[in-house]
Amino acid sequence: MIQGLLSVWSYFLWTGKQERVVRDWSDMATIKIVERNARIFARDNFHCVYCDYDGSTFERWRYLAIDHFIPRASGGTEDDANLVTACMDCNFMKGSFRFATVAEARVQMGKWVAQERQIFERNFSPTAVVSTEP
Ligand SMILES: [Zn+2]
Repeated sequence: MIQGLLSVWSYFLWTGKQERVVRDWSDMATIKIVERNARIFARDNFHCVYCDYDGSTFERWRYLAIDHFIPRASGGTEDDANLVTACMDCNFMKGSFRFATVAEARVQMGKWVAQERQIFERNFSPTAVVSTEP
């Protein structure tokens, strides 16, 4: 339970989306957020709706996040219907970008990941040829 709370807390810190830093683990607002997250994760079968990342074990669950499908900055609500399970990579990548449907988001974000992969393979892969010339 404590680890779950820490994960929620670190998620808020990581995303910078929390209005205030949670310091009281028994704070009712914190408990409600944990209950809400558990409900959304269960509904989505502990899988990222964008990339199918499986967060069903403890180690992998730590990288799950709650995404506001319609971003709060665009008027998205806290209703369950607007909340989806996302891995932290997808949650970060999606940011405040707005999509019409989850299916559309999956396609576009898949393209972004493919572009990232090309950048990785060209520049950062241990097997990439990196010039030593200045
Ligand atoms: Zn994902």
